[in-house]
Amino acid sequence: MFSSTDYSFMAQALRLAEKGLYSASPNPRVGCVLVRDGQVIGSGWHERAGGHHAEINALSAAGAAVQGATAYLTLEPCSHHGRTPPCAEALIKAGIAKLVIAMEDPNPLVSGRGCASLKAAGIEVQSGLMEAEARALNIGFISRMARKRPWIRMKIAASLDGKTALNNGTSQWITGEAARRDGHRLRARSCAVLTGIGTVLADDPQLTVRHVNTSRQPLRVVVDSRLDIPVDAGLLRGGGELIFTATASEGKILALREVGARVIVLPGENGGVDLAGMMQQLADFEINEVLIEAGFKLNGSLINAGLVDELIIYLAPCLIGDAARGMMKLPELANLADKRALKINDVRMVGTDIRLTCGFS
Ligand SMILES: [Zn+2]
Repeated sequence: MFSSTDYSFMAQALRLAEKGLYSASPNPRVGCVLVRDGQVIGSGWHERAGGHHAEINALSAAGAAVQGATAYLTLEPCSHHGRTPPCAEALIKAGIAKLVIAMEDPNPLVSGRGCASLKAAGIEVQSGLMEAEARALNIGFISRMARKRPWIRMKIAASLDGKTALNNGTSQWITGEAARRDGHRLRARSCAVLTGIGTVLADDPQLTVRHVNTSRQPLRVVVDSRLDIPVDAGLLRGGGELIFTATASEGKILALREVGARVIVLPGENGGVDLAGMMQQLADFEINEVLIEAGFKLNGSLINAGLVDELIIYLAPCLIGDAARGMMKLPELANLADKRALKINDVRMVGTDIRLTCGFS
């Protein structure tokens, strides 16, 4: 149903959409290519919330030449009046003859409406071209719309024998420079980076994006059930950080507010934070992708609670030994049949380290 030129133009639109990888959230990353007589006459992408949508940028780049054109768009055009007027209307007014989209809007409240209004205006609409690629690009936005929860990645740096830290908590610099830079790319595309109080106390990390260029920093989130975080912790510099706790200790909450942090009291079981409730709240705050950079305790709790969608494991060519800490604290199994099965979706070298990308099957 789609020709090789269709694929080529949609691939261009996807590459444009990818330009919004670090900046478009909470909106989806979207690209648009306008084609007439086999020639690209305009293209655009969505840079940031409040800015023009990809279609509008492409239409203004094309100018008056749009009549009879085909629009290749990585996501169904919006049909509702949000921060900007609907793009479906703009495409109809511009006089395009055909629309090819990679995927429909994942928001169940509006899905299909943009395409329906174009069809009603007599415009030919085709859907599903390179849909898998488009879905991967907006995996967090789709998750938030469809599941009311962010897409949750867990990043772990370990030795080849699966150890992440010494027993005294020292965990920095197991992997090499290239893996660290790659980790910063993961941070840059995430809306939030989440850690636990154990990591804050042991490493005092900043969790900012430093090794890649980005126009925005992810929200920093700490799980701290007893509010043990020092007010001068490195990651509290900058303000706006979010701390989830299980205790309503007023004095400490006030002290943290004074340094610009926000504290949310969300008690769960056994004196801990309600982790599933926390992820729901993050979705309410329009967080599409969460990157977990925590220690073995919180890693284990999140996996046990079924709150991890993807594991990204960097394995460094070194051995640390059996006495050191593992990747995640999971309950002991009596039977190997109870093991958690994973699916390896990608494996590659990053510098001198191996990067594994796994999903839960
Ligand atoms: Zn739009």
